[in-house]
Amino acid sequence: MRIGFFGGTFNPPHNGHLRLAEVWRERLALDRFLMIPTGTSPHKTPADVPGETRLAMCRLAAREAGGWLEASDFEVRREGRSYSVITLSALHEQYPDSDFYMIMGADMFLSLETWYDFERLKTLATFCAMPRDGVSAGELEAYATHLAAIGCPGMVADVPPMDVSSSGIRERVRKGLPIDGLVPTSVARYIAENRLYQSPPER
Ligand code: ATP
Repeated sequence: MRIGFFGGTFNPPHNGHLRLAEVWRERLALDRFLMIPTGTSPHKTPADVPGETRLAMCRLAAREAGGWLEASDFEVRREGRSYSVITLSALHEQYPDSDFYMIMGADMFLSLETWYDFERLKTLATFCAMPRDGVSAGELEAYATHLAAIGCPGMVADVPPMDVSSSGIRERVRKGLPIDGLVPTSVARYIAENRLYQSPPER
């Protein structure tokens, strides 16, 4: 099988995440596409949104995307920090003989070499990125060439960036500004109903 692994904090999931996923869905012909929110940190502060809540929003976002994306509780159900190398190793055991594609934005892609156990991580997936926050596809391509030279497979989608972030959405909610068009409708409703991101102010 060809399996997509889309990890993130997803606090909350937004339309930039869904666009990134859609871009790679079109290019990769995946059999399964897993959206995996990170677990709750054991050092969480009252300002943090629990994993279960972020997972619930991922489920709504995935359903609204059309059902091809699946929200997975894999990291939320584990205690402690989530490391991609651990999740990918476990996924390889669960789905033997599969190829994994790890989906990410430019910011994550450019920091790949600093990730926990990069030497093993690079053997477990192909890393797929798109532009974000002023980082061009050209810059990503140059970095992908460097990664390839050190044995890490990467792919870059040359598509226009979409300027939306979870932190920007949290800030808008805190200021009482609308978030329509920035998150899936069902996620906006969930945020309002559960009064997320209104207080206390972020660290
Ligand atoms: P925050 O603003 O809190 O840092 P975020 O918007 O970056 O959050 P994450 O859950 O940390 O959201 O991101 C998960 C993954 O999605 C990361 O690989 C990130 O680069 C990517 N991503 C998030 N937003 C976008 C976007 N607008 N365009 C492309 N990739 C994105």
